[in-house]
Amino acid sequence: MSDPVPARSLRDWLDRLAAIGRLSVARPGIGLRHEAAAVANRLDGRSATLFPRPGGRPGTIVSGLVSSRAWMAEALGTREDRLIAQFQRACAEPLPWHERETGPAQDVVHRSDIDILRILPVPTLNEHDSGPYISAGLMISRDPETGAQNVAILRCQVSGPDRIGVLVLPRHTDNFYRKAEAAGRGLEVALVVGVDPACLLASQAIVPLGHDELEIAGALTGAPLDVVKCLTNDVRVPATAEIVIEGRILPEVRELEGPFGEFPQYYGERAKRHVMTVDAVTHRENPIFHMIVGGGLEHLLLGAIPREATILASLQRSFPGVEDVHLSLGGVGRYHLYVKLRKSQEGEAKNVLLGAFAAHYDIKHAVVVDTDVDIHDPQEVEWAVSTRFQADRDLVVIAGSQGSKLDPSTRDGVGAKMGLDATAPLDAPPMKFTRIRVPGEDAVDLAAVIVPEADWRDAASA
Ligand code: MN
Repeated sequence: MSDPVPARSLRDWLDRLAAIGRLSVARPGIGLRHEAAAVANRLDGRSATLFPRPGGRPGTIVSGLVSSRAWMAEALGTREDRLIAQFQRACAEPLPWHERETGPAQDVVHRSDIDILRILPVPTLNEHDSGPYISAGLMISRDPETGAQNVAILRCQVSGPDRIGVLVLPRHTDNFYRKAEAAGRGLEVALVVGVDPACLLASQAIVPLGHDELEIAGALTGAPLDVVKCLTNDVRVPATAEIVIEGRILPEVRELEGPFGEFPQYYGERAKRHVMTVDAVTHRENPIFHMIVGGGLEHLLLGAIPREATILASLQRSFPGVEDVHLSLGGVGRYHLYVKLRKSQEGEAKNVLLGAFAAHYDIKHAVVVDTDVDIHDPQEVEWAVSTRFQADRDLVVIAGSQGSKLDPSTRDGVGAKMGLDATAPLDAPPMKFTRIRVPGEDAVDLAAVIVPEADWRDAASA
């Protein structure tokens, strides 16, 4: 089978999902407050869901666009087993974007009397969320000194007609913001909603400050991304985006934001956060608003895959025997890492565990297994732990280290790491750790062997 062609826009990807029955269309008028999110969660991983005229208002919501690894691979024009390698290549060799004079993202323009909730169908997601959230918006900002862009998905609470509460973590957006704030200015930004899967995935790349994730999106699809300049500032945004909210993150201003249901499937707390004020909203005709329901598969996988790519590259620099890594869904795509190691030295698995904890502070529990274990299947990893691990000699615990602040069992992000070496000893007798298998099992063609709707009594007496 030949590789599929990458999806170039959200609408392109919706066509592809619809063509093979992976897009459910709800009846018009599903409610914006919890109702749309509830339906999306029920279909999560089975199909994306499109909600026409949500809450009886104009507009359309879509959710669950990339709720499986296989879909992500298809959207990027590759196979699931090549997804991580393709992502690594795109991060290493980004493609500069191509600027256009105009694009459909600016077909409709609102520049005065802006009321976000009147223009866009913004849903309320989890039970205790503080209100409507723009949860799948790419926050694109520009370094006030160099003009380099950054892309991140930040949670955005609609706080007023033209006011958005933003959780800005101490990463790249914050670096640009601090430069603007020190000069007494706001940070010019664009909040972009409704983009193709490559832009979504690229936004989560773990690359150094100054790398524009839109260039990674281009490399992911193999062609430069078309962009347009915002109308009220110099930020460049994908030309085929559904919705662009232009504005500034204000200097010195902090207002209450949260609680909001986050990826660990708990609430991020209410606290004083940054505030974005809106200068213009542009969108396509009949724009499609993308919602990511907090804690759903789309939320988990968008974080997991770029992290896997980064962690794998980091481990392979020190340990050439590391063949693959997996961040499991039970570990919310962040906290539980499984490592496949072709072990060549005794003790190597414990060094790999130490390398894993150093690769990303979110990693809390890590398990190293041999190459005969499928690390993408948690039951396989559990089997390795149950038969190749002894707690008195194979366990590593590191107390008081940096973890995820969103893990409620930590003390404000300070917690323990636990590593399990579930590899078999190299000097074990040959049969001791050999997995049983029936020869030919994998090659059986069931359709050629099994008689459909056969009567067992007839069959047994013949
Ligand atoms: Mn960045």
